[in-house]
Amino acid sequence: MSGLLSVFFHLLLLFKLVAPVTFRHHRYDDLVRTLYKVHNECPYITRVYSIGRSVKGRHLYVLEFSDYPGIHEPLEPEVKYVGNMHGNEVLGRELLLQLAEFLCEEFRNANQRIVRLVEGTRVHIMPSMNPDGYEVAAAQGADISGYLVGRNNANGVDLNRNFPDLNTYVYYNEKHGGPNHHLPLPDNWKSQVEPETEAVIHWIRSFNFVLSANLHGGAVVANYPYDKSLEHRVRGVRRTANTPTPDDKLFQKLAKVYSYAHGWMHQGWNCGDYFPDGITNGASWYSLSKGMQDFNYLHTNCFEITLELSCDKFPRQEELQREWLGNREALIQFLEQVHQGIKGMVLDENYNNLAEAVISVSGINHDVTSGDHGDYFRLLLPGTYTVTATAPGFDPETVTVTVGPGEPKLVNFHLKRSIPQATPTRRVPNPGHGRRVLPKKVQPRAREEDEETKRPQRVPA
Ligand SMILES: [Zn+2]
Repeated sequence: MSGLLSVFFHLLLLFKLVAPVTFRHHRYDDLVRTLYKVHNECPYITRVYSIGRSVKGRHLYVLEFSDYPGIHEPLEPEVKYVGNMHGNEVLGRELLLQLAEFLCEEFRNANQRIVRLVEGTRVHIMPSMNPDGYEVAAAQGADISGYLVGRNNANGVDLNRNFPDLNTYVYYNEKHGGPNHHLPLPDNWKSQVEPETEAVIHWIRSFNFVLSANLHGGAVVANYPYDKSLEHRVRGVRRTANTPTPDDKLFQKLAKVYSYAHGWMHQGWNCGDYFPDGITNGASWYSLSKGMQDFNYLHTNCFEITLELSCDKFPRQEELQREWLGNREALIQFLEQVHQGIKGMVLDENYNNLAEAVISVSGINHDVTSGDHGDYFRLLLPGTYTVTATAPGFDPETVTVTVGPGEPKLVNFHLKRSIPQATPTRRVPNPGHGRRVLPKKVQPRAREEDEETKRPQRVPA
């Protein structure tokens, strides 16, 4: 018996000795090693890829989890997490590395919840969108005095103020008519953005992402679009106002799923601020132009929220385990949120896939489109909806569908080719969907005021 006990204790000791010290900050090389380590441990369900390079040539790596890595399976939604966009906000980076290790380990342990997630979802994890800024912040260490050191990329640009401003277009269109989704990029967009931003824009255009979160620090709150306030000035006074999207209720729910699954975010009082339920509309907190979450919503099918995860932007290493335990369930539950609403295929009469078909939900002025494989995903809260699929050259098809709280409802569309009309009774169609040219006066301004000048009392999160 004592021999058995001794073996047991030896094993325990051995396990303790070889168990990696995972709760640490990861510099760039360490981050890359960790991503490949996870890939080597779970080669059949992961893939490491780079979407491009930072100003200083560091790769923007993504670790993908899927039962078929590298392949989009029709009707299987794509989700992403982006961390460390502000180089000095480092918790997201560490949490995403933890998440990667957790997903791999639990899949190997046959944790049914994680197996189901990986088999039914394609998850893309980018721990750092700003590896250059991180190195600057990390060189200073956790007890830095400069609160903004490392925030920007190597060209000194705040990447969350660097995306094309599409809000100006959509606010105009909401009033005067025009596309409510997939708003076009300005012609000269590439010359206006940083390499990291350009890489991310190419990335989010090349996958049909449905759901996303962007991980930041400096507060503890789940922030949902719009970030940019509709009213900038009232009688010359700068003001910020709640600026909801047409999907406001859904966004609130997505934000609440995170805040309530989080250890303390939902309590509302954090870092000296109070946010009811631990969530906020971005613009009602402070208006921010050219941010990433508004861009995702206005240019792609992706619904993104911004998670502010720690008062301390660069928490000490000893805090990391507690933070991981506080965020783990929320990070998983948020991914699971992609499985709600409706999804399905858009096909023609010969069962060919129809890409870029438009799916409209009556009462919600924001359409989504089918992806390259003809599949679409429309996140919706439980309720009854009238849904229409349209594609150029086809008759629209409308169905009524009741969505429950559980799995998404499968709604396929089989569109019939329109019979050409002898007399041109229809009005002149838009010249290409989402390609509407705006009058000069509403062209987005080249540059918004810095957020710092708007909110001098607040250091941006
Ligand atoms: Zn931030």
